[in-house]
Amino acid sequence: MSNQPIQFIDLAAQQAKIRDKVDAGIARVLDHGQYIMGPEVKEFEQQLSDFTGAAHAFGCANGTDALAVVLMAWDVGPGDAVFVPSFTYVASAEVVAMLGATPFFVDVDEATFNIDADSFAKAIGDATEQGLSPSVVVPVDLFGQPANVPEIQRIAEKHGIKILVDAAQSFGATLHNKRVGTWGHASTTSFFPAKPLGCYGDGGAIFTDDDDLAAVINSIRLHGKGSQKYDNVRIGMNSRLDTIQAAILKEKLAIFPSEVEARDRVAARYAEGLKGVARTPQLMDGATSVWAQYTLIVENRDKIQTHCKEAGVPTVVYYPMALSQQTGYKHFPSVSGGTPVSDALSGKVLSLPMHPYLSETDQDRVIDAVAGALKG
Ligand SMILES: *Cc1c(COP(=O)(O)O)cnc(C)c1O
Repeated sequence: MSNQPIQFIDLAAQQAKIRDKVDAGIARVLDHGQYIMGPEVKEFEQQLSDFTGAAHAFGCANGTDALAVVLMAWDVGPGDAVFVPSFTYVASAEVVAMLGATPFFVDVDEATFNIDADSFAKAIGDATEQGLSPSVVVPVDLFGQPANVPEIQRIAEKHGIKILVDAAQSFGATLHNKRVGTWGHASTTSFFPAKPLGCYGDGGAIFTDDDDLAAVINSIRLHGKGSQKYDNVRIGMNSRLDTIQAAILKEKLAIFPSEVEARDRVAARYAEGLKGVARTPQLMDGATSVWAQYTLIVENRDKIQTHCKEAGVPTVVYYPMALSQQTGYKHFPSVSGGTPVSDALSGKVLSLPMHPYLSETDQDRVIDAVAGALKG
């Protein structure tokens, strides 16, 4: 048995597989020299649109900007409450605060790690009582599983609240056979290197089926451009996907479906091997995940982490602190009664190595290390 440390995410194995094609793609960009909004960007956007089924797909600089662009397109600002789960990556709430609106923290469902519909419904009343205007909800597809957007939509609809899905971790996943990118009024993703579909730098994308919204999004990511050059019709930002990153992503997207299948095989094997040992992830009926993280709920996390480390098995805690508890965010409002599930999860979650190139031998080492820690 090998004692080589296992990689938490193995980007080198993927690169070895497609290196020639990536090199050729980058060389083509160097040859034509159109580094900004070159032909690869449009080609990749068309592929994103074909892959997801979304009518419009726009590349942008990163997954954080992607969220900001949509909120700007909806004129979100001071006085607006934007409902965000407390158990997520900081970017989901950061963009809200950056625009002067109020991130309003909502709890999550313990089984899925995703936004809890009852908590969201309660928060709408709370926000209204506090004189805020309930404007947008940001369901986050945490760890790669789609949030229950149909359920959120039933509530949001009654109050005229727009839905912006933060699909930074779930590109490629489906809910009721509909791909991520087609849910909500708009959705966004990230191509940060460690995401299921990652580039070799920063990148992101925005998806919508709404033609009018699409036109505004396209303008905002390009400094608020109008139809006439140098007449900028609104305040925008500089948020484009680099041509080189688009060229790289085209090659990565070509092998992505097989990688998603491989991730699913790892997840199934973990679930089987850890059955009765640890609380493994639960999928909603009708949902598939791309397993951005494979996350257990455990009681004795420190002990397991130490034991795994000794066995050469890396583990990571996503996220050790709920957003509503963090220094820069705790002054923002939360749903009445607080976010106890998010707070408890931050003390109990533990993510295991997950990538498409994890060998069965290494999967067994991970399973044995976790099981050994819990039995010992
Ligand atoms: C990664 C991530 C983002 C931000 O993406 P960047 O490309 O790093 O800006 C936003 N939301 C969630 C949930 C993420 O995991």
